[in-house]
Amino acid sequence: MKIMNKRKWIIAAITLAITVLLAPGLDTFLSEQAVYAAETDSLTITDMPENLRESIEWVWNNRILVEDSTSRKNLIFDQIFAGEGTINYVVRWQSSKTVTLQQRKDIETMLGRQLNNWTKHLEGYDGWPYGDIPVKVVGWACVNPDLLLDKQSDEIIYTDYITDELSSSEPNIPSKLPVAPSALSRFDHFTEPNYSYPGGLDKRFDMYLWATSNFGGGAGGDWGQRMSDDYILSTVNSDEIEITEHEIGHGFGFPDFYQTNERPPNGFPVPTIMWAGNSSTITEWDIWLLRYTWSQLKQNTSRFSAASPEDSNSTGTEIHGKMYKRHPVTEPQLTSIIQPFSILYTPMESGLKSFLRTLHQQVFWNGK
Ligand SMILES: [Zn+2]
Repeated sequence: MKIMNKRKWIIAAITLAITVLLAPGLDTFLSEQAVYAAETDSLTITDMPENLRESIEWVWNNRILVEDSTSRKNLIFDQIFAGEGTINYVVRWQSSKTVTLQQRKDIETMLGRQLNNWTKHLEGYDGWPYGDIPVKVVGWACVNPDLLLDKQSDEIIYTDYITDELSSSEPNIPSKLPVAPSALSRFDHFTEPNYSYPGGLDKRFDMYLWATSNFGGGAGGDWGQRMSDDYILSTVNSDEIEITEHEIGHGFGFPDFYQTNERPPNGFPVPTIMWAGNSSTITEWDIWLLRYTWSQLKQNTSRFSAASPEDSNSTGTEIHGKMYKRHPVTEPQLTSIIQPFSILYTPMESGLKSFLRTLHQQVFWNGK
């Protein structure tokens, strides 16, 4: 394995070197995507450690399939595909606490970090076509917009609300529950294949980050994650956030393991964040449940056909103020990338090419 690691680093070094020489449109692809992929190489289900197999297969067969928790085509896997490799959130602020501009920026960064703490383990695995998943907060739902301090001109605030039924049994829960427009909600429209969001795909939101004062613990699903406002604000700069990551796990279709009979008969070989209190971080077991689930779901090719770059009519995706659009990597482009180095690296040329070609199913992000 030492030799493989060395080779990976050589490839990473070459791609970095090549990056300098490339047209501006290609540098994003190589610098942000290729180097990481070079470190992971291609994994498949056969790489799953043997000690994890029994428990993961048991959970898949006896929990996930039995409870039918992955057939709804709005899992985070589906959301990422529909969003062309991105996730958009609305923050639902069911709280009377103020939120500074810095806190709002930190919340967006936190959501990207937490989601990618899961999805980064799919990079280079069994045909998963995406690298880093850009996560944006595209709006705030907040009954009192004055709570959002130093509001910026590009920030969208929704002030409509409904009544939170939970408040009738739990008086400490605010009764006013802010809502974002249904027309922009993927949750409300994922069953309609030809639905188009007002203003375009980038305006939609996939999930809520739902902050509720005095809310105990957490709740999660394909609709998003719900925790208390205090929990969200106090953990916003943490690398791994236990409840948030656990609740995101439900968005991939993963179950809880509260009762003995809900757990594998021979137990878990290592801890898992999906058994509340068992692990405060995403573990190897969680990583392989995620990968195993992807390997099962991807067999439905109509469900997970990556949007063909040729038929993509979208105007692209804005990331950090730059517009990005997906394009296929063509053979001439690959050749032009490899050519200057072919004298030095002839034996590696074909390997490097196929490595670039298979990345993201021949799709890369091209800065516009
Ligand atoms: Zn749970």
